Amino acid sequence: MSVIKKVLISRDELNEKVKELGNKISMEYEGKDLIMVGVLKGGFIFLADLIRELKIPVEIDFISVSSYGSSSKSSGVVRIIKDIDVSITNKHVIIVEDIIDTGLTLKYLKEMLYTRGPLDVKIIAALDKPSRRKVDIDIDYKGFTIPDEFVVGYGLDYASKYRNLPDVCILNEEIYKS
Ligand code: 5GP
Repeated sequence: MSVIKKVLISRDELNEKVKELGNKISMEYEGKDLIMVGVLKGGFIFLADLIRELKIPVEIDFISVSSYGSSSKSSGVVRIIKDIDVSITNKHVIIVEDIIDTGLTLKYLKEMLYTRGPLDVKIIAALDKPSRRKVDIDIDYKGFTIPDEFVVGYGLDYASKYRNLPDVCILNEEIYKS
């Protein structure tokens, strides 16, 4: 039995979209002091791909958060496990996230980073699952809108595995039973 039930977004589609987003950001941030903050762990692959499509200088840092509760549900209470190391005062910030589901994580992060005096804080997400949104959040740059399905691959995990799958996939239900 294959672990993958369906490829929802292929690596080629992801590549093409990342190029498009990289070009857009390069134009909009030309001459600006930009820092991209990757949200660990899921955002690391998207961030790595995205920055290689930028034609402008960019600073990189990572933040690691965990929401209390099970891995597939967001409770809204966010704990910072690893904060960024650099100052974002007077810089333009883009938070790089794998997927926006309820929106609670990003809402918290955006408000938290705004307290540190950046020029602005924008959001880029590879995937958007709007059907499950609990709070209003502006996604400034978006890859793909997906239906209410639990997905893995392209950085996203199930039980800490499958982040390395190059496509965004839906797993076979049997995986969740074992
Ligand atoms: P939220 O927007 O609900 O605060 O949380 C977003 C986080 O929930 C993501 O960074 C990711 O860790 C997790 N998440 C939400 N939907 C999915 C999904 O379909 N697959 C996986 N692997 N994680 C998800």
